Amino acid sequence: MEKKVNSIHTRAVHAGDRKPTSGSRFIPVTTPIYTATTYFYQDAADLERVFSGEMPGPNYSRHGNPTNEALEELLASLESGAGALACSSGMAALHLAIFTALADRNKVILAASALYGATINMLTKVLEPFGIETVFADFCDEAAVARAIAEHKPGALLMETISNPLLRVAPLDRIAALARDAGAQLIVDSTFSTPLITRPLEFGADYTVQSLTKYLSGHGDVLGGAVITNEANLEQLRMLSRSLGPLLGPFEAYLTMRGIKSFPVRMERQCSNACRIASWLATHPAVERVYFPADPQHPDAASIKRLFAPNLFGAIVSFEVKGSFAGESAQAAIFRLMNALRLIIPATSLGDVQSMISYSAMSSHRELSPKHRERLGIRDNLLRVSVGIESVEDIIADLDQALGA
Ligand code: PLP
Repeated sequence: MEKKVNSIHTRAVHAGDRKPTSGSRFIPVTTPIYTATTYFYQDAADLERVFSGEMPGPNYSRHGNPTNEALEELLASLESGAGALACSSGMAALHLAIFTALADRNKVILAASALYGATINMLTKVLEPFGIETVFADFCDEAAVARAIAEHKPGALLMETISNPLLRVAPLDRIAALARDAGAQLIVDSTFSTPLITRPLEFGADYTVQSLTKYLSGHGDVLGGAVITNEANLEQLRMLSRSLGPLLGPFEAYLTMRGIKSFPVRMERQCSNACRIASWLATHPAVERVYFPADPQHPDAASIKRLFAPNLFGAIVSFEVKGSFAGESAQAAIFRLMNALRLIIPATSLGDVQSMISYSAMSSHRELSPKHRERLGIRDNLLRVSVGIESVEDIIADLDQALGA
């Protein structure tokens, strides 16, 4: 199992698992769930070596445990990182990545204006009052990012690979170069694209953040997140984690590893279903506009070509419904449509095996004011479908009957 294998499908099944336990003649096929909060060694001197970092091994579960470590090895392997930290949510992971990046840098973040609503909230309502300033820029405009770096001297840049919910794709490779030249670190939330489609560390990012809650665990039964990074940042990341205590629990770590084994296969199917659905929606008379990265007219087509694995465009399709304008009349029309669905689940998450639909103004971006949403281009008639692994004909039939209802 030590041999390096290149295929992500193979690594998803094998990396991190099947570590021999010393003194035991058998090796479990999957990593057990280590529930112990604390560990001792037959020789107390060994515990001292573990505490000092001279010898690898667990001592206390807030510092790490063997189930989490197996998952972290798997995540580092999938994302081409030197190491990873599995956290209790995607938001906890983002928080930790930001603190690590800013530990010895200017406490200013340059963030993409198109971000998940809770991330914008964390930046503006949680970090700002603690003295961490955030300035926003359009990350699809490289010149605007360069200008903002020169003006604000940020210690960190923060972006998503595929923005939520309008699916813009900023040139992360070029932004990584700008960040590096300015001595800033780039944090990339890659939840929507997953390591199957793009691996930000390979393009020069310093941290990849994943909400494990989504595609990687994939079955709607785990809340988790991860930071994956290079060797240079690992010690600081782990030191902060030992102090702040954001680690994932071992049951969730096990479930996530179990989910990841089938993640590349699930994701391929979700991506191909999404392509079919986006093309079908584009011709539907009740649909005003479709947002999907495979669209040849997509404003970021050049970045998509450089950054994405061939023929994979993600599994989120967003669309605007015709005739539902703004405010309450739009909300009533959208609720009618959501209530008419029989297969697609009107729930707020994404990335699971089952298809789900979400109304951004009500869920992911509800904490932003209507004016802020309007500035971002998130209209009151916008729906976001997280495409699952069901038969694509069944998903389309469900959308068709609901759009006509
Ligand atoms: N990043 C993105 C892009 C998300 O969509 C989400 C959640 O929807 C998060 C981060 C936060 O993840 P979690 O809910 O696991 O904290």
